Amino acid sequence: MRAERAQIAVVGAGPAGIAAAVAARSCGAQVLLLDDNPDVGGQVWRRVQSGAAGGWRERVKQSGAEIRSGVTVFDAARIGGRVLLRCESAAGARVIDAERVVLATGARELFLPFPGWTLPGVFGVGGLQALVKNGLDVRGKRIVVGGSGPLLLAVAAYLSERGAKIELIAEQAEKSRMLGFAGAMVRQPGKIWQGAKLRASIIDVEYRFGAWIAEARGDDRVRQAVMNDGRVIEVDAIACGYGLVGNTQLAQVVGADVVHQASAKGKDSRDGKSQKRTDLSTGVSYGRVVVDDVMRTSVEGVLCAGEPLGIGGVETSLVEGTMAGYTAASRDDLARGLIPRRRRERAFAEALERAFALREDVLCLARPETIVCRCEDVTMARIAACDHWRGAKLLTRCGMGPCQGRVCGAAVEAMMGWAVRDVRPPVFPVSMNALAATGGATEAE
Ligand SMILES: Cc1cc2nc3c(=O)[nH]c(=O)nc-3n(C[C@H](O)[C@H](O)[C@H](O)COP(=O)(O)OP(=O)(O)OC[C@H]3O[C@@H](n4cnc5c(N)ncnc54)[C@H](O)[C@@H]3O)c2cc1C
Repeated sequence: MRAERAQIAVVGAGPAGIAAAVAARSCGAQVLLLDDNPDVGGQVWRRVQSGAAGGWRERVKQSGAEIRSGVTVFDAARIGGRVLLRCESAAGARVIDAERVVLATGARELFLPFPGWTLPGVFGVGGLQALVKNGLDVRGKRIVVGGSGPLLLAVAAYLSERGAKIELIAEQAEKSRMLGFAGAMVRQPGKIWQGAKLRASIIDVEYRFGAWIAEARGDDRVRQAVMNDGRVIEVDAIACGYGLVGNTQLAQVVGADVVHQASAKGKDSRDGKSQKRTDLSTGVSYGRVVVDDVMRTSVEGVLCAGEPLGIGGVETSLVEGTMAGYTAASRDDLARGLIPRRRRERAFAEALERAFALREDVLCLARPETIVCRCEDVTMARIAACDHWRGAKLLTRCGMGPCQGRVCGAAVEAMMGWAVRDVRPPVFPVSMNALAATGGATEAE
């Protein structure tokens, strides 16, 4: 297959990718924007047309960037001074041969296994929101929203607006941790306002700190949520998520440096040694792509922006995407002008991470018989018998199924303290045809 040439290819059309495409186009560069969803917007702006979402959608459509939706990039490699992206879409397989690539691949939810979490009716928090945005009817459904982070409030408000009856919002962090966060919030009055508005919209819903779902009970579907204090709540659904994890797989596959920290105390596990989790009290963080001041990764021609650099939210993604777009278009000077703004946004994100750091209790909810890897039906007991992620993969097939460890990998990283670093292409399931057709593509059109 002959490869299609592009000057700048942006992978991911969430806020970071959109901003990168707009910035690069404003400098006159030719831009190809690729995303696996049917429309631009990423996670937060999925099906949202109003406000900032509408403005950025319009801006990118008017920018002259070529937008290709429904395209999955499953491999990336730097070959002969260019970056090759192997892609698949309904139209078939393709290889994009780009001078520069911006990886704006966003984040996914962190699911921590607990007894009953695989019952039908137990969703990820963002996952349920995405289903409702795509038409799932939750009117009159009794839902417990649990886990950690600001997404709980946002999703509870969204589901309530769509007619769901939110029984409880259970936030694992203690209220006292929010005090430390207050200082960072004061410097971001817009975010205080956003949070207050959301809370006001569901003021009658109980929002409990230091609370979590210990077990989901049911038969053919979930019927009850058992809370950590023993309270049993009758439910039609549970929405549970413990924050987000950056999608670093494509960056890892292309060879970019990714730092893994097992705990916020800075126990850097880059050395590759396996470790059993010892200190959980200070929270967990996951692989983050390493970039310089203007969003360049350690691989020449590959830039990265947004959530793969650490969970930062929409504003951070927008500023980093803009910086990456400028740098990709060789306007580092413009990118540098945004460094102070990025620093401010990142400081807020770090405060957020500290405030919602995961407590040990929620990392130990899985019982020996609890399934951790759903693709391959691997239980906690089998994983706990291993010493490191690679061993667990080889001995149990954990992480070897269709999700390729995107779900269980992050959970195991959190629960066991193992860095998940051996990512191999394809990073998404693809057809044999796509693999075969794009296999030897090194020649450009
Ligand atoms: C399920 C979910 C729901 C969320 N809901 C909210 C919310 O309601 N409010 C809020 O403030 N924040 C929400 N967030 C957080 C939100 O993701 C970020 O604040 C913001 O969207 C980050 O922007 P981004 O551009 O960095 O990433 P994203 O918005 O995640 O965009 C990344 C895009 O890249 C695409 N992509 C990734 N890999 C590939 C690939 N290999 N090939 C092709 N395309 C690819 C993804 O499909 C996605 O469209 C949610 C996050 C998740 C995971």
